[in-house]
Amino acid sequence: MKVKKLKGFRDVLPEESPAWIKLEQVVSQIFTRYGFAQVRLPLLEQSTLFSRTIGEATDIVEKEMYTFVDTGGEQITLRPEGTASAVRAFVENGFDRSNPKARWYYIGSMFRRERPQKGRFRQFNQVGVECFGWKAPGADADVITMLWDLFTALGLSGRVSLEINSLGCADDRKAYSDKLAKYGAERIDKLCDNCKKRLGKNPLRILDCKSPSCQEATADAPSPVDSLCDECTEHFSTVRILLDDQGVPFKVNPRMVRGLDYYSRTTFELLTTELGAQNAVAAGGRYDALVEQLGGRPTPGLGFAIGLERLILLLGDEWASADTPDVYMVYTGAEAFLMAMRLRRLLMLRSTTTTIDFEQRSMKAQFKSANTCGAKWAMVIGESEVEKGEVTVKNLAESQQQTLSINNAIELVSTKIIASDEE
Ligand SMILES: [Zn+2]
Ligand SMILES: [Zn+2]
Repeated sequence: MKVKKLKGFRDVLPEESPAWIKLEQVVSQIFTRYGFAQVRLPLLEQSTLFSRTIGEATDIVEKEMYTFVDTGGEQITLRPEGTASAVRAFVENGFDRSNPKARWYYIGSMFRRERPQKGRFRQFNQVGVECFGWKAPGADADVITMLWDLFTALGLSGRVSLEINSLGCADDRKAYSDKLAKYGAERIDKLCDNCKKRLGKNPLRILDCKSPSCQEATADAPSPVDSLCDECTEHFSTVRILLDDQGVPFKVNPRMVRGLDYYSRTTFELLTTELGAQNAVAAGGRYDALVEQLGGRPTPGLGFAIGLERLILLLGDEWASADTPDVYMVYTGAEAFLMAMRLRRLLMLRSTTTTIDFEQRSMKAQFKSANTCGAKWAMVIGESEVEKGEVTVKNLAESQQQTLSINNAIELVSTKIIASDEE
């Protein structure tokens, strides 16, 4: 019996990987310009890291984590998101003590045992950003602007919309949570069973329930913005002024509460209507208490994560094309094969991509393969070329050919290729 991949997991095959590589390049370029540096963190962490940060009463911790006891008897979890690990690393490496300001980003796989659906996998990839050390609203605006610039660079700014909200500080959140619990209790018979449970543990979550009866029952729920203290009101107002000043278009959505417990003050999402009901492609917010919660010195922070599978769906097949070789080596006979192999290496040292077939097939079959793989040039070495130490260079698109010395052939092809790359 053949072994199959696990449900909800996928292979990214070579024809898809150019999009991944290009996306990672654009991300790195934009984030680096904003002063963010890459961190690479473990995929496995102690399970308590996530229950302590994401929150016990969240879907992620309750039912979606891959948690198991390893052979050493330790309970460990495949990371379901990146922020908890980043904060853990920030504290563990003493950044909260020596240099409590840092701008980090990461690219990597996360794991959640969710119901598989379009663009959602149990191993999925995220780009995430964590910005530590700034309490001021400038940091919020800067991070959101960077997210917007990334989507603009990807040509997607017209296809996503930005929504922001503020949950306030811990006190405001508590006040709002109580208000919402009271509001929900008055309508408890209209709420789904899940929300009835949420009401006691995490009332904010009733606002992002997908059940139509819950959505109807909470349509005129109180807004968190009305529960903000003066300081949080001022903070939120400055974030909006700064975003306006940068020309970043956004809408305030008072129902956006985000699924994770650790958020405070600003939260935000980038939404699209093009990928079905689950419509966030990026989401984030401020988490001013998280560093302290993980044993560090109090350090404010904020960040966001982007789901890359869904982003690549949005970008579409045309966005990045597979690389085709510049040159196909065509040869006949054992000596020609040796020449072709040597010539191939010389070309590659000049940054030319080449390909060759090792099976010594007919010239006709090799030309056919050259056309199929999309090579621009063929380097042809037959008996007469071997004899004279020459090579026939054929431009496959224009069906023109000329026989040249090996040095001239290399010169011709690599110069033309460099010129066409610069076009
Ligand atoms: Zn407040
Ligand atoms: Zn519900």
